[in-house]
Amino acid sequence: MPTRDGRRGRARETIYRGIGVSPGIAIGRAFIFDSEEVVVVKRRIDADQVPVEIARFEDALVRTRREILDIQKTISARLGTEHAEIFNAHLLVLEDRSLIEDVIKRIGRDRHNIEYVFQQVGKKYADIFSQMEDDYLKERASDIRDVVRRVLHNLLGRKREDVSALREEVVIVAYDLSPSDTALMHKEKVISFITDVGAPTSHTAILARSLKVPAVVGLRDISGKIMAGELLVVDGTSGTVIASPSKETVRRFSQVRTRLQVIEERLTSLRDLPAETLDGYRVALAANIELPEDVPAALASGAEGIGLYRTEFFFMNRRELPGEDEQYEAYRKVAEQVRPHPTIIRTLDIGGDKFVSEPLVPREMNPFLGWRAIRFCLANTDIFKTQLRAILRASGLGNVKVMFPMISGHEEVVRARALLEEAKDELRKRGRRFNDRIQVGAMIEIPSAALTADILARHVDFFSIGTNDLIQYALAVDRINEKIAYLYEPRHPAILRLIRQIIAAGHREGIWVGMCGEMAGEPSLALILLGMGLDEFSVSAVSIPEIKKVIRSVQLAEARALADEVLASSDVGQIRESCKKLLLKAAPDLVVLKGER
Ligand code: PEP
Ligand code: MG
Repeated sequence: MPTRDGRRGRARETIYRGIGVSPGIAIGRAFIFDSEEVVVVKRRIDADQVPVEIARFEDALVRTRREILDIQKTISARLGTEHAEIFNAHLLVLEDRSLIEDVIKRIGRDRHNIEYVFQQVGKKYADIFSQMEDDYLKERASDIRDVVRRVLHNLLGRKREDVSALREEVVIVAYDLSPSDTALMHKEKVISFITDVGAPTSHTAILARSLKVPAVVGLRDISGKIMAGELLVVDGTSGTVIASPSKETVRRFSQVRTRLQVIEERLTSLRDLPAETLDGYRVALAANIELPEDVPAALASGAEGIGLYRTEFFFMNRRELPGEDEQYEAYRKVAEQVRPHPTIIRTLDIGGDKFVSEPLVPREMNPFLGWRAIRFCLANTDIFKTQLRAILRASGLGNVKVMFPMISGHEEVVRARALLEEAKDELRKRGRRFNDRIQVGAMIEIPSAALTADILARHVDFFSIGTNDLIQYALAVDRINEKIAYLYEPRHPAILRLIRQIIAAGHREGIWVGMCGEMAGEPSLALILLGMGLDEFSVSAVSIPEIKKVIRSVQLAEARALADEVLASSDVGQIRESCKKLLLKAAPDLVVLKGER
């Protein structure tokens, strides 16, 4: 990447589209975060210089180790130990004997300066890893590059570009950001970040959301196109970045940003009010979380519980499996903060779009239809029961419920429940406390489960509809393939019918029915779901105020009429219009919030 410092802004407005991974609007100047290779000069050294260079190398390794431990401490205090654990991989690189010996051998043999030798060896190792098939190992290449850069900076006596010491507000532009880069960003100065690569489930995206900074990733080669100091508009909701925006664009987005702030302030005032309609019909409004650190934001947004705790993040980016105690600590932390409200812990849902390292889940031709989630757990009862015991122990301290993902038929629930009983027995033998009457739920996210919801309902205490997967399976549309994203339609009559059927079957059998798929967090769709009788809405923390607002703005009869109307329609466009009409009447602010851009 060429140096872009000091270049002047271009005149023409340019729009880039990527993946919005953290919502909101930011308008600010670009700060090019050069995660590029450090420039190192190649020098010949004399034989008597060899031990000196080796000593410098060892000193740099020690200093880098100290630096990483410091970062770990800061991140642990700021974001929790799970985030800090990412750096264990960095520390391992520093201790890698074969890498260190390779470097020492080459200094003696080739007689080049240590910076040059180390950069060459580090590059060789990173290249080997980056070409590996296994996603986990591939990711290690960026750990190696990160560590190599740190060591080189220490050898050269240079400080890395420090995003925690920024003086003015900036939009960070980078090829990629290592977890250490994003975690140390100061929210007050970094108003947004945009990167060439990345996906919604990458660590940087998750961290951006927990830091509440708008972010867009997957912008391909944007870091090579944007100039230092160039003005940028970042729309983290739609995934758009506008470089050198015209005055008119800046004015328009500033207006939207101000309006969003006003609406958000107004929505915040609803925090402690119940999610009930104008005529007093109440539903439960809960939050989806991925890490224990997400709980404060969820509660601050007014969530009355956690409707989906995705536990698989625990199992990602690591080689060894988390043990019962480690899992228990995390579940306990969440349950204690959330009680008396419920925390619904979903058992391990790996596979499909949720990658874990290869030894655990092998590569498959059709991962979305493969050996994943409950199928994997029922085949790996040790892993499953370890998690169940950890969840059960947390149920002794808070209002914990357990939920099984990817249920395709009632036999899986029967088997999972039997293993839950075994886990209880094991805890009893150990004298551990737990809630023997813990509620058990099934996620309804496979069409076969939706169509046999009446049978399944007799085996569980509640349902949670997972529309993210239900839509992909019912419509045969890969949920992460952008080429067919236009077919991914929650308003499709097939989806609306399936949801109505699930809710009705659950109610006939006397259980409550919730939804934790993204559909529940879309205000106009929430109106339909309310009208269909959905009992619980579990959405991301940022959507809580909007959903509360929409529920508090209508009469139940209006929502029911809308549900009847859309269920009778076969036209997606017309369904969209009907929803928008009611939304506009009930909560026009939300139309601005969602639809203006
Ligand atoms: C879903 O499928 O709707 C869901 C909530 O689960 P996930 O997105 O984690 O697959
Ligand atoms: Mg799912």
